[in-house]
Amino acid sequence: MEHNAKLYVAGHRGMVGAALVRRLKAAGYHNLVTRTSQELDLRDQAAVEDFFALENPDYVLLAAAKVGGIQANNVYRADFLYDNLMIQSNVLRESQRHGVRKLLFLGSSCIYPKLAPQPIKEEYLLTGLLEPTNEPYAIAKIAGLKLCEAYRSQYGCNFISAMPTNLYGPGDNYDLQNSHVLPALLRKFSEAVTLGLPRVPVWGTGTPRREFLHVDDLADACLHLLLHYNGAEPVNIGTGRDISIQELADLVAELTGYAGEILFDFSKPDGTPRKLLDVSKLHKLGWQHSIGLREGITAVLQSADWQRATQLP
Ligand code: GDP
Repeated sequence: MEHNAKLYVAGHRGMVGAALVRRLKAAGYHNLVTRTSQELDLRDQAAVEDFFALENPDYVLLAAAKVGGIQANNVYRADFLYDNLMIQSNVLRESQRHGVRKLLFLGSSCIYPKLAPQPIKEEYLLTGLLEPTNEPYAIAKIAGLKLCEAYRSQYGCNFISAMPTNLYGPGDNYDLQNSHVLPALLRKFSEAVTLGLPRVPVWGTGTPRREFLHVDDLADACLHLLLHYNGAEPVNIGTGRDISIQELADLVAELTGYAGEILFDFSKPDGTPRKLLDVSKLHKLGWQHSIGLREGITAVLQSADWQRATQLP
């Protein structure tokens, strides 16, 4: 990938897209094309056709998606399915029609069956039923990676797919209703410290286990795949380590200095019991994560982005 190649990063305002832009710039790629969602609605086929005709990018990194935590996925079921199907269908089709040299599609670990054996290997895809809370999002992402495979087999397109685990980092969503668990707990515990609250509610039973990857590690892994991977099969991206929500709550309490009570709210869903990716394929491709969870959370808490996002004093 030449340093002056034209790279379109779709979704550059999101947590993942912004991390990709930072990583690509740091690696010397300077010919980046971006559009905000106001400038280009990726669900609009005609608008995406015009954009590709105008810009004709050499490479495409598809980080634009409608995303959210367990509650948002469960409530806005139609939007998660429709928006993601439209975004990826438009971008993949135009990438094929305009001869894009390589495209990276980003999926999610929720595409795997709810009760998949752990750790989850790439080949467990479509071997069982999905977790109901995020089934619409998962179905969209499965359609996306299958569309990549289909464009590869029918038209010879070099479209690759990466399946990241739960992500966190700069640019995260800290909305208590719609966010993922880690940003939600960071905000809840920090606010409890600031306001002197005696107890903090944590959703579910605390027993589900999740794996967390810093988004800067994800961006680094994506660049690695763009440079070194040309296969049809998706590649899992994670750390290969997980912790329970209870352990995560204890860690966030410690790092935010919260010493009060943690109350589990059983009226909220647990979701998938465990979601740990098998990352041996990624390791064989020569990439491993470098930011540990404690280190990553500490960095988030010290960042200007966190102060801004949560408007803490
Ligand atoms: P998931 O990985 O798709 O299930 O998405 P989440 O990151 O939203 O949730 C992961 C787990 O954390 C689930 O078992 C949630 O019930 C639990 N959890 C505990 N407290 C919270 C919270 O405040 N927000 C969210 N989103 N999840 C929470």
